Amino acid sequence: QVAEWRKLRDEPTVTVDGVHVELAANIGTPNDVAGVLENGGEGVGLYRTEFLYMGRDKLPSEDVQYNAYKTVLEKMEGKPVVVRTLDIGGDKELPYLDLPKEMNPFLGFRAVRLCLDRQDIFRTQLRALLRASVHGNLRIMFPMIATLGEFREAKAILLEEKEKLAAEGTQVSDSIQLGIMVEIPSTAVLADQFAKEVDFFSIGTNDLIQYTMAADRMNERVSYLYQPYNPSILRLIKMVIDAAHREGRWVGMCGEMAGDATAIPLLLGLGLDEFSMSATSILPARSQLTKLSQADMKELAAKALDMQTAEQVVELVQSIEQ
Ligand code: PEP
Ligand code: MG
Repeated sequence: QVAEWRKLRDEPTVTVDGVHVELAANIGTPNDVAGVLENGGEGVGLYRTEFLYMGRDKLPSEDVQYNAYKTVLEKMEGKPVVVRTLDIGGDKELPYLDLPKEMNPFLGFRAVRLCLDRQDIFRTQLRALLRASVHGNLRIMFPMIATLGEFREAKAILLEEKEKLAAEGTQVSDSIQLGIMVEIPSTAVLADQFAKEVDFFSIGTNDLIQYTMAADRMNERVSYLYQPYNPSILRLIKMVIDAAHREGRWVGMCGEMAGDATAIPLLLGLGLDEFSMSATSILPARSQLTKLSQADMKELAAKALDMQTAEQVVELVQSIEQ
């Protein structure tokens, strides 16, 4: 099997009926890029920038960040790199920010909420990203977007920083795609409206599942409710993909679900364009996807959407020959 996977390293991911999907990787540091290329990643679908901010005693400077982003973009040699702006808060703390303890950190002051408030932090990161953009194929993504207003505000700040850099005579790429993570149900429900304003979506199922099922992703006592295959989750994913495609936007997924062998046939059938996962999952996923027909998986997904329980969906997927 390993030998078969290795042969797929430089191959595109094309289904038996000729549909091309992208397999990208999730990374946390520039050092992870080597593994992405070794495993045949066609891009970086999620660069979690939190690690730049963690394990130190103060905020990383603009130059420290610029160097990290530039390194990743250069090493990826023109392949797309989706960088997620700071997603701190929730389970990820930064001691030096000295934020007050919250009753419900996952529902609290985190990610883009914090960035819109602490604009000094946000603007520094955006400047570093914009400066790095000339070194590769950069895509910027905002996490934890709950409303159109948040997206518009974050985008306006990005454009302000871009203009400032231009005024300073610093070169910035003109082809940076701007997208959002869909990990809050309100955003999935209004995906048709968001799709008119963003370049792409990336579905963050790790959080989307916890917020849809109201089940803390870290709490074992409610882990039985953490159900990727619950038809409600599949319907939300379908809403997002259909809304995006109506506007000609692409949709990725960067939660754990994207690399899950049981989910992959369903996601292909729902029309997902990009699957982003840990680097070591890419070749097994490519092997699986190249043996599937999207037309058949569309029928499978349609059946799954009409089921009542996650167990029924799993049984359905297991009933197909792979
Ligand atoms: C997600 O929520 O699915 C996601 C990819 O983000 P994180 O796991 O970093 O919260
Ligand atoms: Mg998340």
